[in-house]
Formats: sequence, C-alpha cells, structure tokens
Amino acid sequence: MARPVALPAVIRTRADLHQALSRARRPLGLVPTMGALHEGHVSLIEKAHADNATVLVTIFVNPRQFNESADFEAYPRDEAADVRICGAAGASFVFIPSVEEIYPPGFQTSVRVGPLTEPLEGAARPGHFEGVTTVVAILLTLAGAERAYFGQKDAQQLLVVRRMAQDLGIATEIVACPIVREADGLALSSRNVRLTAAQRAAAPALRRALLAARARYDAGERDAEILRAAMRVTLAAEPLAAPEYVSCADPATLGELDEIEGPALLSMAVRFGAVRLIDNEPVP
Ligand code: AMP
Repeated sequence: MARPVALPAVIRTRADLHQALSRARRPLGLVPTMGALHEGHVSLIEKAHADNATVLVTIFVNPRQFNESADFEAYPRDEAADVRICGAAGASFVFIPSVEEIYPPGFQTSVRVGPLTEPLEGAARPGHFEGVTTVVAILLTLAGAERAYFGQKDAQQLLVVRRMAQDLGIATEIVACPIVREADGLALSSRNVRLTAAQRAAAPALRRALLAARARYDAGERDAEILRAAMRVTLAAEPLAAPEYVSCADPATLGELDEIEGPALLSMAVRFGAVRLIDNEPVP
C-alpha cells in the first residue's frame, strides 16, 4: 500500500507566500519549476529537502520566456498531480501564482543579463532568457531562500541565473543538480510527453550524439570542430531528428571553442516535429 503523504500547502498570492514563509523553519530551499513534474524535478525537490528545514516549490508557466506562443499553449499542465508529487518529495509549500500575480497591472521591470545570454538557447529563442531572469529574480526575491535548486539539464540557464544572482547581490546560494535520464539516455523533460511514439524512439539520438563526441574527447581529440562534427554525424543518422545547433563551448563564457585546452561543454538543441529538446554533457 502506498504510504499516505501530507499534501503541501498551496499558496497563490505574494501576500500569502510572505505570511507562510515568515513562520517557516529555516533554512529554506526554493525549487522553481513550470510544473508537469517528473523525476528530474523530484531530484531537485529531494535534494532541497535533504539540505533544508523547509522546501518551497514554485509552479509557474511563465509566458515571458516562451518565444513561441504555440509552445506556451501546448505546455503540459496538471496541478493536482504536481501538488501530490511535491508533497511526496518533501515540499512544505507550493506557490502556484496566476500570471497577474507575478506580473500585476502596471508591471514594467525586466532583468536582462549580458553576453552569456547571447549564444545557444539565447540565439535560438529570442527573449527567452530575459523572461527567465525576470521571473527568477521575482521568485528569488519573494522567497528569500537560503538556497535555490536548478538542473544542469538547462546548463545555460544555470550559468545565467548564477551570474544574475551574483550581479544583483541576491544572497541565495544557487545549487546545481545533475541531469536525470530515462533508461535509454533521454533526459527527462516536461516536453517529452508531446513526442509521438516514433519521435520518442528517435529522441535518445541526442544522448548518443553527446556520447559520440565525448568518446572522441576521451580518445584524445581536442579539436572542437571534430567533436561538433561527431555530434552532427550521429544526429544525421536519425531521420526524425532536425538539429538546431550543436556546440562545443567554453563552460564559463559559452563561446565556441577551436582547440579544447580546459573544460568544455558539449550541448545541442534538436527538433522532433513540433517538439524541441535540449541536452548537454560537460567534458572531461
Ligand atoms: P522546468 O520545469 O522545465 O522549468 O524545470 C525546472 C527545473 O528542473 C530547472 O532547474 C530544470 O533544469 C530542472 N530539470 C528539468 N529537467 C531535468 C532533468 N531531466 N534533470 C535534472 N533537472 C531537470
């Protein structure tokens, strides 16, 4: 029989969040999400639960970070299931604000981080990171948590959020969590449920491409273009995969590398029909 779990308190307004957190035991761990929670999110919540006395999960499908309105409309939503998952993973509070609660009438502030947001996801999705950093700045400020948890799955987002927190003097420690994958290597993503059966079968091509490049690196190859070519060749063998970019970049600046002399970040974005997937692998 499944163990009964206490449902966390669902909070919908900034004022109620302020009230609830004023009485919460510290330290507080914050896990920002867009819902449709899966084991990747669960790993963040469990890590937050292990590190902190109280865990706050936020669920907000942030319209400002979607550069395609069809992607925003199609984004999966299941609040009741999400709240249960949050409780089972150890969250005490789930903040599920409306769009108007996050962006009240008259809202006119935006947070934009510089060059780190320009390549890769920033180039492919105009306006995406400005939407992310604006909402994350609001959530970090409202929560005032000791720690906030982000997945390595969105490697550029993690770098950009760290940069923003440091630049704005936000005291919350930004904690990075490893990528959680399916048994066949596909990184868990809320968008995976939108893949057709054939696309789902093809989607582990991202992981295969990253591993092909890593194998070349492990064999001593240090020419970044050869690693990018290894990823392209692997993806080209999968007819349903339409690559948007492949990258072998400096993991601190995200500038594309020629010769690999230190650590590097292999990453890619690939479309399967209407669904866009990303993945990455740090080397060494
Ligand atoms: P999202 O709901 O997609 O905005 O993701 C919320 C947080 O969960 C972000 O910090 C993501 O990087 C993280 N996340 C999403 N998928 C995974 C995964 N497969 N493994 C680890 N973290 C993840």
